[in-house]
Amino acid sequence: MFTATLICGTVLSYEARTFRPDPGDVVPCRHHGYCAVQQASGSVAGGASRPRAARRAHGELLDWLRGQSETTVHALLRRGFTLRMVAEAERDGVLDVDLPVGRVAVRRPIEAAPRGPGDDDVC
Ligand SMILES: [Zn+2]
Repeated sequence: MFTATLICGTVLSYEARTFRPDPGDVVPCRHHGYCAVQQASGSVAGGASRPRAARRAHGELLDWLRGQSETTVHALLRRGFTLRMVAEAERDGVLDVDLPVGRVAVRRPIEAAPRGPGDDDVC
């Protein structure tokens, strides 16, 4: 039996490893709508295959959010973004996500250039 422990403490069990989400995944939670997986057991997640496109997709998510201050989880899913990407953006401090309500707030303006004025590094 493979299990996944959510950040809220709920433990979900799966019959096959392929069904079991990995830590960081956001899955339906029977108490809160959706919660992120904190820990997965049943096997060691060694060499877990993180999709290589994730980074690029992450950029696309930020790209799409640029200029917006608020959106909904539903709108993001409709655009093809995944809950995992939304959770990652939240972890990066970019978004405030209220999954039970489905509200996504952009914490700070997303700019094209990562460096703002005020950096005085000498090149
Ligand atoms: Zn929960």
